[in-house]
Amino acid sequence: METFGHIIGGEEVQSEGGRVFPSIDPFTREPWAEIALGTHVEADRAVQAARRAFDEGPWPRMSAGERRKLIHRFADLIEEHGDELAMADTRDMGKPITQSRGNDVPRTAMNFRFFADHAALSPGEVLPMDSGHHTYTRYDAAGVVVAIAPWNFPMMLESWKVAPALAWGNTVVLKPAEDSPASATIMARLALQAGIPPGVFNVVHGYGPDSVGSALTENPDVDRITFTGESSTGKVIARAAAANLVPVSLELGGKGANVVFADADLDNAVEWSIKAIFTNAGQVCLAGSRIYVERSIMDEFVERFSEAANAMVVGDPKESTTQVGPLASGVHYTKVRGYFDTIPQSNGTQISGGLGDGWFIRPTIIVEPDRESTHQREEIFGPIVTITPFDSEEEVVGEVNDSPYGLNAMVFTENLVKAHRVSAALVVGTVWVNCFFIRDLRAPFGGAKQSGVGREGGTFSREFFTEPKAVVMQMERSSH
Ligand code: NAD
Repeated sequence: METFGHIIGGEEVQSEGGRVFPSIDPFTREPWAEIALGTHVEADRAVQAARRAFDEGPWPRMSAGERRKLIHRFADLIEEHGDELAMADTRDMGKPITQSRGNDVPRTAMNFRFFADHAALSPGEVLPMDSGHHTYTRYDAAGVVVAIAPWNFPMMLESWKVAPALAWGNTVVLKPAEDSPASATIMARLALQAGIPPGVFNVVHGYGPDSVGSALTENPDVDRITFTGESSTGKVIARAAAANLVPVSLELGGKGANVVFADADLDNAVEWSIKAIFTNAGQVCLAGSRIYVERSIMDEFVERFSEAANAMVVGDPKESTTQVGPLASGVHYTKVRGYFDTIPQSNGTQISGGLGDGWFIRPTIIVEPDRESTHQREEIFGPIVTITPFDSEEEVVGEVNDSPYGLNAMVFTENLVKAHRVSAALVVGTVWVNCFFIRDLRAPFGGAKQSGVGREGGTFSREFFTEPKAVVMQMERSSH
């Protein structure tokens, strides 16, 4: 069995007393790896190591250009070790290998390259003043960053936090989710191999409440907390951050709406709608889990969509033909399975899918559940989608916005004016028009309402991971 330790101060270490926990492969439902189980002891050690590396080490004192070189070397190693990293995520949480190898590895490497380049190349501002002074801005590293990640895109979402934090000269303590720990240790090993100094990128494994997660978020030596996970956990973390007045960035849950107008290119709409909900077995914060279709094309859409859903290959995530793997863990499977019990109360009609063997759920479609049903309002985080007809633009905008979440939406229409008008009216962080998942790393990413606080990406990440400073210079001796 493979073993994965914490990475603290440049060393791979075990927990005090040798405590470990198993990582369960959700396809075999057997342990495949043994992980060091941290407590507040390891969490505090990791924060101290990051603190020392920030206060005394070379990393924050290097130029962004020097850091950029080391981070690019790190990204090269991520690509070279792509098979190992992809298999770690697939075995930890059941994601099809085609997705972990084909999407997550290259995007992880790209996140590191992008933020290294962005930090090295971004300009500050110079503000000439009438008084004979000028003001310029500096973006200095904030300090010790705690990054807490979920299990659905393990290495990729971790890199989305670790990359900008490192690029701007911070030191990091990363806590991966307990269901997907392995790739974080592999990444931190590779960072050391790339020459990123000890103590700059630390990893501590363990659970959230009353464990490593809470110890990290309550530590007064931390300068930033960046969290991705459930909205309810985000509230707990925001309270811990408030106690020390630590800035916190929260990327939380979603209930992505997907609006298909009658004038849409239907082939395109069906193709993206399938990817939007069934990629990663629906375990995607951005998943298009409630589809709204203009009534005149409802029957045709449902027919084509269900045909495509039924054709999806469900199976062993290690096989290159598999499109839908098992759910990530027994606990998560049990939660998602519960939504089948309440279909009768929702008044919706299940037209495809259902429970498979083990922790599998086949792509499932529920047509016209009640507006107030749990299927329509809660984040299911599984391969279950609802389809509801609508009659007018005003009605559908109201339906989409009538949600506690506001992460993202998709709009399918060939009418340019309508596309812009609807995009403006939706209360979400991202709108995709006639597409899905496409990302420009300079753009703001985050959610409205219960979907989050703050934005990350490009200059938005710079704002969070630095302490912006104004320097006011006297330019003319005679002025005061
Ligand atoms: P989760 O909130 O259960 O756990 C996320 C992380 O927080 C884990 O590492 C966990 O150990 C830790 N944690 C839990 N309780 C904690 C506490 N009290 N203090 C500190 N840390 C704690 O979420 P999950 O089930 O791993 O992930 C799924 C959720 O993540 C979904 O709601 C999904 O929408 C959301 N998500 C959001 C985005 C986004 O960008 N908005 C992206 C991916 C996933």
